[in-house]
Amino acid sequence: MNIVQSIVTNNPCYKAGRKIAVKGLMLHSVGCAQPSAQVFINTFNKASYTAACVHAFIDGNTGTVYQTLPWNHRGWHGGSGKNGSCNNTHIGVEICEPAGIKYAGGATFTVTDRAAALASVRRTYNAAVELFAFLCKLYGLDPATDIISHCEGNKKGIATAHSDPEHLWNGLGTGYTMGSFRRDVKANMAGEKAKIAEYTDIESIAWDLNHRGIVDDKQGLIDAVRTEPNGRLYWLARKTLHYIRQRD
Ligand SMILES: [Zn+2]
Repeated sequence: MNIVQSIVTNNPCYKAGRKIAVKGLMLHSVGCAQPSAQVFINTFNKASYTAACVHAFIDGNTGTVYQTLPWNHRGWHGGSGKNGSCNNTHIGVEICEPAGIKYAGGATFTVTDRAAALASVRRTYNAAVELFAFLCKLYGLDPATDIISHCEGNKKGIATAHSDPEHLWNGLGTGYTMGSFRRDVKANMAGEKAKIAEYTDIESIAWDLNHRGIVDDKQGLIDAVRTEPNGRLYWLARKTLHYIRQRD
């Protein structure tokens, strides 16, 4: 894991200087097609930027973690709900989103370059797993209970009504969930090789097998599986890819 310190000392949240006892970690994604962490840091590191402040951004092009607040500093990342504010208890980390997505309103988007978008999301997911494992060890947290998304924070009544980052993972058909994320963090902490989330949509499976040079006729595979969605070809392709990815 590559962590670069880039504390946003000009941001009013940093200047407020409040500390928290860290009780949990909240994962976010930025909600716009901007993979560069530096672009957000430039925006956040201004005295006039009062909208938000988070503890870190994970760059979508490199997977590098840019730490923007001291970890035990009170951030402005999740707002509040009927049960209080996650800002008083949780570290907030933003995943930067791929350039090739285009929001169509709310949390729905279209994708212009699906392959690049998937590669970027995989990169940020894996970096977030490593960062959250590190932070769980640092603060004695249990990944099974102490890691939530912004979306889950809203359901618990401690954050505003957002759907990140699950909307990004779901919209691209990655197969990633907060459940897989918590399991991967736990596995990483245990020193195991992180277990890989299994793709279930045929487009991702075909793309990956084609990208690896195993399947030439990507569209042919997609068409064949669409003819028989739960047939042997689907399961063979799915299991083969999963096996290969676990061995990577
Ligand atoms: Zn959020």
